[in-house]
Amino acid sequence: NKSIVLKSRPEGTPTLENFEFKEIEKPEPQDGEVLLKTKFVSVDPYLRGRMRDEKSYIEPFELDQPLASAVVAEVVESKHEKFQKGDFLTGMLEWKMFQTSNAKNLRKVNGDQVSLSAYLGVLGMTGLTAYFGMTDIGVPEKGETLLVSGAAGAVGSIAGQIGKIKGLKVVGIAGSDEKIKLIQEKFNFDEGINYGKTDDMTAAIKELAPDGIDVYFDNVGSYTLDAAMNNINRHGRVINCGAISLYNETEQPKGPRLETTLVKKSVKMQGFIVRNYEDQFNEGIQQLSKWLASGELKHEETIVEGFDQIPNAFIDLFDGKNIGKMVVKVD
Ligand code: NDP
Repeated sequence: NKSIVLKSRPEGTPTLENFEFKEIEKPEPQDGEVLLKTKFVSVDPYLRGRMRDEKSYIEPFELDQPLASAVVAEVVESKHEKFQKGDFLTGMLEWKMFQTSNAKNLRKVNGDQVSLSAYLGVLGMTGLTAYFGMTDIGVPEKGETLLVSGAAGAVGSIAGQIGKIKGLKVVGIAGSDEKIKLIQEKFNFDEGINYGKTDDMTAAIKELAPDGIDVYFDNVGSYTLDAAMNNINRHGRVINCGAISLYNETEQPKGPRLETTLVKKSVKMQGFIVRNYEDQFNEGIQQLSKWLASGELKHEETIVEGFDQIPNAFIDLFDGKNIGKMVVKVD
């Protein structure tokens, strides 16, 4: 059995040096517990925040302790009345090949309709983030224009498609020509901007969205957010989902940058964490499943193979190596 612990807190961009693999004993399940074998591990940008020794909406990881994220695992032995050998469970679990759990915060899933890894993406946290961000904060209206950054990623690709389902014009921003092609061809976005090839983001948005932006789904923050705000319409809504371009920065940009726009245009700007909607997760999963089944919603995954690749896959998120949800498959 093996686990992955946080060896040191990253300064700037995380590196493999920050992680350590440890040989550990395979545990025995006690009464009321299951023994789980890890199958799929989600790596997510927000884990970077947990590697800082800072108070946040979720506890920081401790040094020399196993890291954790959303996982799909198989029950290989059960002393739990509700679960049997061969069941698949998902929820927050540690980065270990085998672990025991009382399964209190885990739910049973199956791979009949969708791949098991989908419960870490479109039918998991990232799909729900896109869904509640769009429906509750974005409140999209038919005929409006939606701008999405991080558009080819797990959250962004779903947020943009929800915009299309609701009848909006959708413009996406992503980091390569390949990603721009994908969001237009597979995810049905109307327009795309490769930020790596764009010097003037304000002008690029203006060109593709001449009527302005009504809803901005922000996954990256900083200058892209400024450019979106330069194009925001009266009564626009800005969904502050994340700011990945700042996660590895040691200094955060300071000062009031957007307030005048918010006032002049009566813009609503709201941050959120998906957990705020915990009591509505079932509704979200039902709607996302329906759209998937009808083919209105499509999803992509980048599946990296091997338990040893988990740290690498996490680091690669900051290099844009993923298309759709980044997941590690463990044999
Ligand atoms: P993604 O699948 O979008 O993966 C990250 C992507 O971010 C990369 O593929 C890369 O794509 C892009 N990226 C990396 N570095 C930069 C940079 N410096 N500038 C611009 N883009 C960059 O991850 P998720 O979909 O899981 O997460 C997207 C965002 O949503 C994150 O900010 C995350 O923190 C946030 N989030 C928020 C939640 C909430 O509850 N509020 C829940 C889940 C996620 P590219 O090639 O285009 O650069």
